[in-house]
Amino acid sequence: MTTYNREQLLRFASERAINYLETLQTRRVSPSEESAKQLATLQHALPNEGTDPGEVLETLDTVCSPATMGMAGPRFFGFVIGGALPVTVAANWLATSWDQNTGYFAPTPATSTLEAISLQWLLDILGLPKTCGGGFVTGATMANFTCLASARHHVLANARWDLNEQGFNGAPPIQVVVGGEIHPTAQKALRLLGFGNKQLVVVPVDSQGRMRLDKLPALKAPCIVVTQAGNVNTGACDAIGELSDIAHASGAWVHVDGAFGLWARAVPERQYLVDGIDKADSWATDCHKWLNVPYDSGIAFVRHEEALRASMAITAAYLPQDSEIRNPSDFTPELSRRARGVDVWAALLSLGKQGVADMVFSNCNLAVRFADRLRAEGFDILNDVVLNQVLVTFGDESTTTRIIEEIQREGTCWCGITKWQGKTAMRISVSCWATTEKDVDTSLDAIIRIARKFV
Ligand SMILES: *Cc1c(COP(=O)(O)O)cnc(C)c1O
Repeated sequence: MTTYNREQLLRFASERAINYLETLQTRRVSPSEESAKQLATLQHALPNEGTDPGEVLETLDTVCSPATMGMAGPRFFGFVIGGALPVTVAANWLATSWDQNTGYFAPTPATSTLEAISLQWLLDILGLPKTCGGGFVTGATMANFTCLASARHHVLANARWDLNEQGFNGAPPIQVVVGGEIHPTAQKALRLLGFGNKQLVVVPVDSQGRMRLDKLPALKAPCIVVTQAGNVNTGACDAIGELSDIAHASGAWVHVDGAFGLWARAVPERQYLVDGIDKADSWATDCHKWLNVPYDSGIAFVRHEEALRASMAITAAYLPQDSEIRNPSDFTPELSRRARGVDVWAALLSLGKQGVADMVFSNCNLAVRFADRLRAEGFDILNDVVLNQVLVTFGDESTTTRIIEEIQREGTCWCGITKWQGKTAMRISVSCWATTEKDVDTSLDAIIRIARKFV
């Protein structure tokens, strides 16, 4: 066997990748049991001798490609998962070749510049204050963590406590207020920051999962209020503008977990859902969800840039120290990392403001299309379909569960299972740039045909 050189390897990979993406439309969404079984052939001890790189890639494509879930395709409706726009995949490949460790501006001017520009464009399209600081992180989990670390630093500084010097032990207690529907990753971020589950003041929610303002406790600084734009089940958004007015009167910090819901800001027809959200103090969002860039990509936006920098920047004698320059790692938990801004920049530039709005709004309309037909067929839709999430139940728990399992196995589309306020439901999340009305209709035909076998 001949050894593949670099050019052959990259051509091989691009050909296989193109083939993979071109066949997404026609392949089944979930991997077949057969292809999943093939993964067992990878299970062997690490050989002493190396394997030809071409053979390594060959194995990867022949064994693993068929065993992937069609998440990049137009009929994957599980969790809240975008695909990746072709331009972002291509930009990502190029940036991977550059292999830029985008921690500091001086050694990586190109990728640091793209990140700074992306940040400004994001603030613009999401309608957030232009002076916000921002960190490019792995996803909304780390974006929540980064924002909440800034919040913790800031509210303690206001209480004359220097967290960096004095630490968290013995600090003034912080009141942390969350909604009953807080995303588990936001709760995890709080845990990582030293706030235990039992220390959280939980505000009851309404039928859509929004915090009930009439149940808000008395707020007392130092205080952090964790709100949500885009409930993972219903898509509902807290009344963040109103909450911010109330919270700020007590000196509290308002954080928004807007992993996907924040993108409603980009769509004129959906802006009413996130009215006044710019009054908050920090916002976490994902780009790998609704902006449809490759994994992993999340952003932490913080109104008080100095709080973000104070909680994230490191100082070491050998590191560049020029406060005029935006060093990406001053705003993130990570030091070494990939150039996340590149994919974001490519997505935003190729779509433009209108393109982003169209992509997000199209998904919202397709969600309504799902809900309308399922309702017409007599199935219960459990949520107000305001964004891209649809909750449908086919009856009792065991029937709904069996139908969902069969839909997943059948392979036309893929939707997940969830529980909403005591009811088992199928969750349909429309988040992919490539999904069309035809994809939705094809999926509906399969869903209804399968459901009719049971009910
Ligand atoms: C997806 C999601 C998260 C977690 O985001 P990751 O990118 O998986 O870390 C947090 N909050 C909400 C509301 C989400 O939808």
